[in-house]
Amino acid sequence: MATITRERSHEIFTRACQLMPGGVNSPARAFGAVGGEPIIMQSASGPYITDVDGNQYVDYIGSWGPMILGHSNLAVVEAVQKATEKGTSFGAPTAAENRLAELVIEAVPSIEKVRLVNSGTEATMSAIRVARGYTGRDLVIKFAGNYHGHVDSLLVSAGSAAATLAVPNSPGVTEGTSKDTIVLPYNDVDKLTAAFAEYAGKIACVILEPVVGNMGCVIPHKQFLTALRDLTTEHGSVLIFDEVMTGFRVAYGGAQSLYGVTPDMTTLGKIVGGGLPLGAYGGRAEIMDQVLPAGKVFQAGTLSGNPIATAAGTATLEQLKSDPPYDRLEKTCSRLAEGLSAAAKAAGLEHCVQRVGSMMTLFFHPGPVNSWDDAAKCDTTMFGKFFWGMMDRGIYLPCSQYEALFVSAQHGDDEITKTIASAHEVLAQIVA
Ligand SMILES: *Cc1c(COP(=O)(O)O)cnc(C)c1O
Repeated sequence: MATITRERSHEIFTRACQLMPGGVNSPARAFGAVGGEPIIMQSASGPYITDVDGNQYVDYIGSWGPMILGHSNLAVVEAVQKATEKGTSFGAPTAAENRLAELVIEAVPSIEKVRLVNSGTEATMSAIRVARGYTGRDLVIKFAGNYHGHVDSLLVSAGSAAATLAVPNSPGVTEGTSKDTIVLPYNDVDKLTAAFAEYAGKIACVILEPVVGNMGCVIPHKQFLTALRDLTTEHGSVLIFDEVMTGFRVAYGGAQSLYGVTPDMTTLGKIVGGGLPLGAYGGRAEIMDQVLPAGKVFQAGTLSGNPIATAAGTATLEQLKSDPPYDRLEKTCSRLAEGLSAAAKAAGLEHCVQRVGSMMTLFFHPGPVNSWDDAAKCDTTMFGKFFWGMMDRGIYLPCSQYEALFVSAQHGDDEITKTIASAHEVLAQIVA
């Protein structure tokens, strides 16, 4: 194992801390859950990312989801360059937006009409506004450990960095806002049924991650998805699948096409923007036609449908559609899952590996992890040691037990072999 120095990273981060809160522009990347300082990155290509000290890592974060084709994908880079030469923003409609909208509508079963926005947070924030406008009701049901961006009313028992940092309710989120949010345990059909009985006629929508990535990878029970669809239909509530992470990831048509359950609305982000800031929300035409200027629900954006972001998203989806990587991703990630599980087993550690397609988590908990209550019992100290051991061997994992890792279409046998061998070394050393 070569010694890794991170002097330049340390210098830059020290300066960043004087300029930005915690030295970062998003808490998920701050390494808060594993201790130590974040690594400052400089470039990325294929399955690799390189830091400012010249250390190269196999990247299992993939910008937290978007980079399913690997970094610096040629067609995406060329599409961005070409779009940039024609001007970077018009604030007026372009033909390019039609192309991306067509691709999204064709791919995602529940989407008949779509609106492009700038982030996943904007997508979920707007979707629940539309659901409330459409139903004329106030209450929103969400699930503990699910993360839907930093929307005030959804920042209650949220996953991702909010889980990591144990901020169930952020300061600044008013009681008035969170009182319209009902938080239930994931995969719990009885509590869901009880909530619909208790709040009959008042529930505007239910929002969930149809495969959770933000408390680590947690798989939905079939009967949970079925109950969600049946109860929302029966009670006239809008079912929203937050597929910001799972869209174009677990299948081209998202979790809804994988499980055959069609929600009323869907939110997208990450992959749909091909690594540029772009999100989207869509659903049945009747619901989407509530949105201004077709309807009365206000939602707008100066940079929405931005031509560069649209070009990157379109170039990404076109490749995923014409040359689907999903079989390959399944093979690569299942090999990784088996290898990491074998490494944990060889070290005699309690663990479970949960995976859907190319997103997965090695939990330091015997499992199965079905909800936030289960996830909260993981050995996060063990995860921190594992994380740093892997970093020192050139493997860049998500810096929290409660974030799923991602494999890209550019990860090959060499990278997986190296990762598994490193995991054996690291875990054996930890328990020694
Ligand atoms: C990342 C994520 C979001 C937030 O998207 P941003 O682009 O970070 O605002 C929302 N929902 C889910 C499921 C996510 O994974």
